[in-house]
Amino acid sequence: MVPQVMLSEQGPRVSRVVHGLWRLADWDRDTKGIVELIGACMGQGITTFDHADIYGGYTCESLFGAALAESGMERSAIQLVTKCGIKLVSERRPGHRVKSYDTSRSHIVASVDNSLRCLRTEYIDLLLIHRPNPLMDPREVDDAFGSLKESGKVRHFGVSNFLPAQFETLASKLHVPLVTNQIEYSVMNLTAHADGTIDQCQKLDIRPMAWSPLGGGRLFTEGSRQALRLRKTLGRIGREVGGASVEQVAIAWVLKHPVQFVPVLGTGNVKRIHSAVEALDIDLSAEQWFEIRRASTGQDIA
Ligand code: NAP
Repeated sequence: MVPQVMLSEQGPRVSRVVHGLWRLADWDRDTKGIVELIGACMGQGITTFDHADIYGGYTCESLFGAALAESGMERSAIQLVTKCGIKLVSERRPGHRVKSYDTSRSHIVASVDNSLRCLRTEYIDLLLIHRPNPLMDPREVDDAFGSLKESGKVRHFGVSNFLPAQFETLASKLHVPLVTNQIEYSVMNLTAHADGTIDQCQKLDIRPMAWSPLGGGRLFTEGSRQALRLRKTLGRIGREVGGASVEQVAIAWVLKHPVQFVPVLGTGNVKRIHSAVEALDIDLSAEQWFEIRRASTGQDIA
């Protein structure tokens, strides 16, 4: 069973493994099928669901919200994460001329109001600014966050894909804490080891959330030398630890880091969700972790 953890001292409490809905529109599930998916996650202890306004070209939140209403589930039993700040060119947003970022007070507040309607809920547990905006005015974000907090529409705030300097700059102008940074991290992508984001989370005692923890599926399909090396090494280490799959060892590698990443799973396949959850029971040795690191980079450490 997946345990609950705090993302930061100030909260929120989330499941140690989160389910992500980016690909929901591709899964060919009707409302009943999404209710079943939510139930399967909850049955494993995955109570936290990751969204963004733009997922599925602005459709995923509504698909999920309809299922949530249909399920009759207690709102307090789950945690909803969503994001804002990216504007897509879409027939659902005829006013958008170019893909752009918008972190103005008015856009953030309007985006949250729309997410609340789509998700059919009174509040968002955690709102993330999806990407750093070169035109960001931190005072506008502070204004928006302050008003959303006061109205009870959003309980906690964070960012995604922010470098440490961007995180620090925004945080310095806010009256609410940033409780996480959701970043790309997997055996396929070790950028966070070098760009300071993990160090910053350790310094601030916040858990990062890891998106695409299986490299968005490229770990299984890609013909690159990196992916070939990784499949071989993960398979061998899986046998060493008693018959774990490539996918389970890849998730265990993410979980091993002392910053205590919260991986955001992107599969719509219930068997694969079950299998990923079992990775919580795998305790890789430091040497196994470094062997996988070497398979990823193709090089020994210095
Ligand atoms: P992922 O778990 O790395 O990749 C999921 C993909 O891998 C799916 O297409 C899945 O296909 C495939 N897959 C999983 N296990 C497999 C296996 N054993 N064999 C073959 N294929 C397998 O995660 P992701 O979907 O890229 O991202 C996860 C979540 O992170 C998203 O839903 C979203 O919530 C979040 N995210 C956030 C950002 C951001 O900027 N903050 C960006 C991207 C994503 P099946 O469905 O067929 O299993």
